[in-house]
Amino acid sequence: MAIKEYAAKLIEQDPTLKEIAEQKETLWINPKYLPFELTDAVCQLVVSDADIADAEARLERFAPFIRKCFPETECTNGIIESPLKPIPEMQKALIQATGSPISGNLFLKMDSHLAVAGSVKARGGIYEVLKHAEDLAIAAGKLSETDNYEKLCSDEMRAFFNQYTVQVGSTGNLGLSIGISSAAIGFKVKVHMSADARQWKKDLLRSKGVEVIEYADDYSKAVAEGRKLSDADPMSYFVDDEKSVNLFLGYAVAASRLKKQLEEQGVVVDEQHPLIVYIPTGVGGAPGGVAYGLKRVYKNAVHCFFAEPTLCPSVLLGFATNLYEKVNVHDFGIDGLTEADGLACASPSGFVTRIDSNLVSGDFTIEDAKLYDFMRMLHTTEDVLIEPSSCAAFIGPVHLESTEAGKAYLAKQGLTADVLKNATHICWATGGRLVPDEVWKEYLVKTIK
Ligand SMILES: *Cc1c(COP(=O)(O)O)cnc(C)c1O
Repeated sequence: MAIKEYAAKLIEQDPTLKEIAEQKETLWINPKYLPFELTDAVCQLVVSDADIADAEARLERFAPFIRKCFPETECTNGIIESPLKPIPEMQKALIQATGSPISGNLFLKMDSHLAVAGSVKARGGIYEVLKHAEDLAIAAGKLSETDNYEKLCSDEMRAFFNQYTVQVGSTGNLGLSIGISSAAIGFKVKVHMSADARQWKKDLLRSKGVEVIEYADDYSKAVAEGRKLSDADPMSYFVDDEKSVNLFLGYAVAASRLKKQLEEQGVVVDEQHPLIVYIPTGVGGAPGGVAYGLKRVYKNAVHCFFAEPTLCPSVLLGFATNLYEKVNVHDFGIDGLTEADGLACASPSGFVTRIDSNLVSGDFTIEDAKLYDFMRMLHTTEDVLIEPSSCAAFIGPVHLESTEAGKAYLAKQGLTADVLKNATHICWATGGRLVPDEVWKEYLVKTIK
């Protein structure tokens, strides 16, 4: 792919961008990262603590409905939440295989196993569908916030929702989340899938009565087409992964839930016991919202890093060039084709790359081959399977203490050896539970040169 002129200029000026364009593994440290106090006022104007609390309360109101529709959530009373698992054997194996130190303790946040959608998209996607359903039902005088939301399961309510359509563009997992939850409410639903989307995800959606429209093009195209078709229909609502504040809020709720889990496990988090989080990034929505929520809760005690394939580092480019959604990996000579189907977004979310621009500590890139290596390593050491896209997170702890960029960040933030030995690292596992057995069999033997 040819490098565009503006990109060539940027590459010339910035050695990290040069490495990115050469598709080498990189750690980009955010030069605009600021102490929490300096970001607080501006951030609250856009997405406030009250907005996040409101989203959390909405999910509580919907819990009886979720519980009824999805019996798998019975044990959590209709709250869709994932376990936080210490993975000491994986930590040892990573250290041994790579020779890199990883101080402190490594955990896995298992959104890979979230109920209903089997990925991190169960947070943002389902939240947005529920919010839309609530808005419609309240406006029609059919629901009030004090009702038991179980009533939304009735035939009458399903008929009401069936007048409306929900549409979304997706590389796969967002489509699963929106598709499954919209169908449960009673909405008609259309999912616009990019060429990267795996066949089993399309098949699963069709089996739930979801209309799947396939595009030969990439994710940005699927979103643009879906948006256009939805806008032309007054009864249709488009879930806009590149812009949606509601999706973002659904993801941000993860933070207060994680705080409870860390407390239950007796894990202390403060500036002397830092929390370091690594989240795989596609368009930026999920990691952006989770990181935003975590900064609101833990302030300077949390350090949030994103992780992306070297073959599709769109969020990194959005941040690093300050061009936000205007940047495209193709402009830097990168074709964007990666095994990490959940991360294959050629352009980032403009909303997230702006709102998180002073909050994110940095962004790691990872070669595709390692996604499968880490996947097998986690399976062998901890008996947990997560999809290849999710495994991008493991490059974080491996490179943080072993690369020059990582060491410089740690020194600048006062994260000395004394502090780091108290660190809690969380790799955010973003998907996996719905992967069919025959696909796992393929993944487990797959190697890439
Ligand atoms: C969607 C997804 C991500 C990243 O979320 P974005 O909002 O696209 O940044 C990461 N991992 C998996 C498995 C996903 O499906």
